[in-house]
Amino acid sequence: MISLFPLGFVENKSSPDPRDKMRKIKYESELDLKFGEQMAAKAYGQKLLSCIQCGTCSSTCPLSDYMDYTPRKIIAMTREGFRDEVLNSLTIWLCSSCYACTVKCPRQIHITDVMYTLKREAIARGVYPKRYPIPIFSREFFNIVRKQGRNSEAILLIKFYLKTNLFMMFKQAFMGLRLMRTGRFSFKRDKIERIDKLQRLLKAAESIEEVRT
Ligand code: SF4
Ligand code: SF4
Repeated sequence: MISLFPLGFVENKSSPDPRDKMRKIKYESELDLKFGEQMAAKAYGQKLLSCIQCGTCSSTCPLSDYMDYTPRKIIAMTREGFRDEVLNSLTIWLCSSCYACTVKCPRQIHITDVMYTLKREAIARGVYPKRYPIPIFSREFFNIVRKQGRNSEAILLIKFYLKTNLFMMFKQAFMGLRLMRTGRFSFKRDKIERIDKLQRLLKAAESIEEVRT
């Protein structure tokens, strides 16, 4: 059976033969029909089925022009089970969590939370674009905060560039030195008192998340 939300046919640009079309229609058997329900549960019970596809989120979103699928489409595709397309989309990474869509949605769907959930799912499944900086940045940030209780910008940037773009680290080095001279950037590692308390808290939050998933 063909899904109710076909993506259509597009031309395969890598082929010189214009008759060579790449199949983009998905059959229902190829979808993950539980995906929408699972993502809704992980996004704190968002009612994706109540979305009326009005498109207010897409027209409000300041970044929808740059997205491969607009927020409205992401909601539709998520609930219909287009797991691979959604998790591999750039949209979820371009979302800057500005909450404009969430504020305007007439069905009070917290679209930003859905986007966060999809990002977490993509990281958990390891399907985000290779060497894509945002998941790496987020993981390094979390590791530093878990260890020290505070972020350390210089350490974070070094770890981030080492894993993503070494060339950029050298390019930014001069600016980093200038910021250090004015005291706005430092290699000092701040640590909060009773870090063990924070670590226990984070561990408890992680185990709750594991139970939920
Ligand atoms: S604004 Fe809300 S109801 Fe409208 S398409 Fe977006 S998610 Fe659906
Ligand atoms: S939270 Fe994300 S999807 Fe929603 S309007 Fe902002 S950038 Fe767009």
